[in-house]
Amino acid sequence: MKPVDLQSLAEIAGREHLLTSIEDRICYGYDSQHVESLPDAVVCPADAHQIAEVLKLANESGFHVVPRGAGTGLSGGSVPITGGVVLDLSRLKRIAEVNPGNLTATVEAGVVTASLAAAAEKAGLLYPPDPGSIKVCTIGGNVAENAGGLRAIKYGVTSDYLMSLEAVTSGGEIFKTGARTHKSVAGYDLTSLLCGSEGTLAVVTSVTVRLVPLPKHRRSILATFLELPAAAQAVANVMAAGVVPCTLEIMDRTTIRAIEDFKKIGLPLEAGAMLLAEVDGTASAAVEEEAATVRRVIEEAGAESVEFAADSAARERVWEARRSALAALARVRPTTILEDVTVPLDRLAEMVSIVEKVARKYSLLVGTFGHAGDGNLHPTFLTDQRDPDETTRVEEAVGEIFIAAIDLGGTVSGEHGIGFAKSRFLPIEVGAPAMEVMRRIKHALDPNGILNPGKVFDSQVSAISFSASVCPPHGDVRHASTGSA
Ligand SMILES: Cc1cc2nc3c(=O)[nH]c(=O)nc-3n(C[C@H](O)[C@H](O)[C@H](O)COP(=O)(O)OP(=O)(O)OC[C@H]3O[C@@H](n4cnc5c(N)ncnc54)[C@H](O)[C@@H]3O)c2cc1C
Repeated sequence: MKPVDLQSLAEIAGREHLLTSIEDRICYGYDSQHVESLPDAVVCPADAHQIAEVLKLANESGFHVVPRGAGTGLSGGSVPITGGVVLDLSRLKRIAEVNPGNLTATVEAGVVTASLAAAAEKAGLLYPPDPGSIKVCTIGGNVAENAGGLRAIKYGVTSDYLMSLEAVTSGGEIFKTGARTHKSVAGYDLTSLLCGSEGTLAVVTSVTVRLVPLPKHRRSILATFLELPAAAQAVANVMAAGVVPCTLEIMDRTTIRAIEDFKKIGLPLEAGAMLLAEVDGTASAAVEEEAATVRRVIEEAGAESVEFAADSAARERVWEARRSALAALARVRPTTILEDVTVPLDRLAEMVSIVEKVARKYSLLVGTFGHAGDGNLHPTFLTDQRDPDETTRVEEAVGEIFIAAIDLGGTVSGEHGIGFAKSRFLPIEVGAPAMEVMRRIKHALDPNGILNPGKVFDSQVSAISFSASVCPPHGDVRHASTGSA
């Protein structure tokens, strides 16, 4: 990589929007993962035109550019592991339009997802994707990671709501994908190509999403189980009963205890596992009927207790507690290593048993929670990266869990992306021919390799290795001091 041309960057974005001090660069050297690497500079452009200028300059000068939304990513996607320039997109925060007549909203890429959801709700509409980080993460980051969330089981993920994007190629051309129509088959589906591309193919600057009518009624259900596999089996039973809850979350004993210690909302400390479900809809009677079915199926699956949230305040408390799961677990030990394996629903019970077995085998503490209705688990190892022996055991345990998920017909990432953290495992899951197709797409769109290098394709930085010996040549990769989130 060539040196960054600071003078020209300052001319493009303005001197006050170019950050070069060590203090500023440290703030942009990490995401919600646990490996740090300092950028050479941070630039905060105002619009797509300035982004285009930055990318043209990068192509001419040969420095690397790493797009960044809010840095809540959990696979190291916005960490500049080869140095270069971090492109902070947070100034692109205009909500251009909420259009109830067309059921759409158009926002700039740096808009926080909760702000988009609030603007839609004001118009009586719902933007369904709701990652646990919704109050912080940006819609651009959601597009780049194809983020899921708590409602994905019924409503789908980010890609299900994308209609049109504005983006900038690595060479600095501004282009549009898709259309603001509810159907379009005009040419290749570039919207889908960019969605989930983790900032490696283009920089997204504006997003048009589809909205749906706001459901008027909801019912939340809380169930406890003696064992985690029994709770996981109940998930498959609910799905087989012909009801699709909007949310169906699972938590193991370690997670329940960590949340209760943190939030003190009265979660049952004696429970071995919990399921949290919600059904929603426009007709109250239908919602009540679906809730009754979910309750019956969960009871028949052997739950110790099943109850409805008494009122909206109780409901809010429960879901707020669930959203705090990662933060709660991060209080238990200095380092959290959170994974994102996803398996077919009918293999979920096997997967949770494997996670528990692997944790026992390596004498590790794990808290497992996740979007069980999607088959998506977040086994979170609670560890201390200063202990090299324990770190090695975590690395081996995570590797076994990834391989087991693939063997069960699952995937190493349901929603957090590959980044550098999982790039070692991607070829095992998709195979060499698919990797080659991805490499060709990357080369066609970014021939000089300036956009977010070292991500998706094998970066040689291990998901959980903290050893300085794996540092790539240019990036100043170093140990993070605390766990994610
Ligand atoms: C507590 C917590 C809970 C979470 N819960 C969920 C969850 O339920 N579901 C889920 O899917 N994820 C979840 N995440 C992960 C994370 O929030 C998502 O991946 C989110 O989409 C990242 O958005 P961001 O704006 O923070 O992006 P960043 O972390 O800044 O970047 C993520 C990736 O996107 C790229 N990027 C960012 N903006 C752009 C752009 N405009 N154009 C091109 N590339 C871009 C970056 O280069 C990077 O590769 C959670 C994270 C935390 C900390």
